Amino acid sequence: MTNASTPETTIADPIVGIDLGTTNSLVAYCDAAGPRILAGPEGEHTLPSVVRLDPATGRAEAIGSVARATAVEYPTSTVHSVKRLMGRGLADVADDARALPYEVVEGEQATARVRVGGHVVSPQAVSAMVLTELKRWAEHALGTGVKRAVVTVPAYFDDAQRQATRDAGRLAGLEVVRIVNEPTAAALAYGLGEGEMPNGHGAAETSVARRTPTGTVSLSTKLNPAACTSDPNPSSTGAVGPSRPSAQTIAVYDLGGGTFDISILRLQQTDQGQVDQVLATAGDTHLGGDDVDRMLIDLVTREIGEQLGTAVDFPPSTRQALRTFAEQTKIRLSTDGEATIEIDLGEPGVYRRVVTREELDRMIGPWVERTLSACRSALWSAGLGVNDIDRVVLVGGSTRVPAVRQAVERLFGRVPYTALDPEQVVALGASVQAARLAGVGGAAAGGLLLDVIPLSLGIETMGGAVAKLITANSTIPARATEVFSTYAEGQTRVAINVYQGERELVQDCRLLGRFELTGIPPMPAGLPKVEVTFLVDANGVLTVHATEQRSGRSARTQVVPNHGLTRDEVDRIERDAFDHAQDDMQRHRLIDLRLNAKLDIRNIRKQLDRVGDELEPDYRDEINQHIAKVQGLIDADDAQVDADAFHRAMTDMDHATIQLAETAIAQTLRDDTGAGNPS
Ligand code: ADP
Ligand code: MG
Repeated sequence: MTNASTPETTIADPIVGIDLGTTNSLVAYCDAAGPRILAGPEGEHTLPSVVRLDPATGRAEAIGSVARATAVEYPTSTVHSVKRLMGRGLADVADDARALPYEVVEGEQATARVRVGGHVVSPQAVSAMVLTELKRWAEHALGTGVKRAVVTVPAYFDDAQRQATRDAGRLAGLEVVRIVNEPTAAALAYGLGEGEMPNGHGAAETSVARRTPTGTVSLSTKLNPAACTSDPNPSSTGAVGPSRPSAQTIAVYDLGGGTFDISILRLQQTDQGQVDQVLATAGDTHLGGDDVDRMLIDLVTREIGEQLGTAVDFPPSTRQALRTFAEQTKIRLSTDGEATIEIDLGEPGVYRRVVTREELDRMIGPWVERTLSACRSALWSAGLGVNDIDRVVLVGGSTRVPAVRQAVERLFGRVPYTALDPEQVVALGASVQAARLAGVGGAAAGGLLLDVIPLSLGIETMGGAVAKLITANSTIPARATEVFSTYAEGQTRVAINVYQGERELVQDCRLLGRFELTGIPPMPAGLPKVEVTFLVDANGVLTVHATEQRSGRSARTQVVPNHGLTRDEVDRIERDAFDHAQDDMQRHRLIDLRLNAKLDIRNIRKQLDRVGDELEPDYRDEINQHIAKVQGLIDADDAQVDADAFHRAMTDMDHATIQLAETAIAQTLRDDTGAGNPS
């Protein structure tokens, strides 16, 4: 035995990616499995960029969520939004400084500084405290020292602001090996601008063959074979773009808490590596999700005033609580149609208010429009029209607001990239850049970059089986469409769970994402036609779209299937599928048998209810014995059931109930005749 191969458990001198944000900061790391966020000691993904300084020493007293939570109690020593001051002169930030609760003073060379107690601290030093905390998170997560980082800055940052960011890194004991523009990082996280793939598969499209209805291929249920049709001409629903062009023009729409940036980039693969050219930027440094919180606070304050019959002036602690309330309401309305605000006013009673999505949408209309006009002006400065934009990437927590997504989609006339968490995408991209600089994972840094889809993609169907829509080794771009139906009577919502893998059951595959199609009008089971479309574009981003065709209701989700996958992992999954092929087939068969058996029993019971009295007691007993036997098989553990025996038991039950079925039919005919000829 030799010890020649040492396991790759420790990473020597890793380079991490850091998003040093105005409101929140994150650290990420990228290896052959792709980029991932490194969590803090409590599993938290983001670190609020907030530091409370000790007025006596000028040192950090609390960093992150603790500092943010206690900000109201320490308004003049809690430093937030320090990014607005980085590398800037006091005169440049006069407006910002007035809005900040802490003191901003002039330092050497007219720079903006923070004063807490008797201590004057540079914005770099405050940012360094945030970076030190992130460094600690990264070292804990990676189990090794971290001395190098790629740090992102807004595309419009000037040299002084970039230098200040480097200095902050140095103060935190981090060598900033590269400063990357935030929009460029977001694009990198999606694998945009990776350069040309060997021979473009411009026209390549994969469509699945029409699935033979087996009686079980359906979403949450048994498929009505009559309702099952596949799109015979998948390309008719829209062409797929050419594969990975060498240069791409990308619009990055970044709507955060307090700032909005739109950047138009050109990413190009050259001999010198990848080059990003910022064609235009526009935005507003005082436009963001905070505005929406304020709108809701104003609404609530006004209405409480009306209820009390007097204008209200809340103390700071109540205002802070209201802020939290408002933000939670806003976030709730990104997923739900309505949210309830309830505030106990004590003596005068309770203020209770339901805010609907429509109401919020009306309220924020002009706010959304301001972002759109910045987009138009950026396009204009770049000398481009919307049709020149290849991709739109959404960044920032506020892009979770549905009205924002819809507005951006309408303006650019294309579905924006939303697969990656908009709050994490910049940090993820920074780590992709870091991995390239470190040479980690070679060409695969940032996840598997392939011109084929490495593992099959599909959705969960009734009973936990997987219906594969796109099979492994299909070339990208690829598209597939299939129609499914419902199992339950009057089902008004359908869950679409998207899986990746080669096995037959969801428990052995990887869940990529899930969404719900709601608002389907109640129909008999099997009647709704839910068309599910999978589209993997040239960058490997998967968009899953579901439409119920009778009602036109639709919903979709987007994911990057290859993130978190290494070549080794793919190989292992393939081997696994091969090893379990026999077993899997048996289990898939059992799922189908159980579904059909349940439906058969349901039917037989209905018939027994109607005509049971007309049967010989012995015959009724015989039928009940068959039902009991089949029910036993339905309830038994997989290991105890033989699919062939199950099948035989069902066939026996079928034969045994022929007479019952005939009796039931005869009675139906009698009833019909009776109804037609009232005597
Ligand atoms: P920044 O770039 O300013 O640090 P982030 O990208 O972290 O900001 O975004 C923070 C903003 O996103 C906050 O205003 C927060 O309320 C908002 N936000 C987060 N999640 C949601 C959501 N689900 N719906 C609406 N707004 C959200
Ligand atoms: Mg941000």
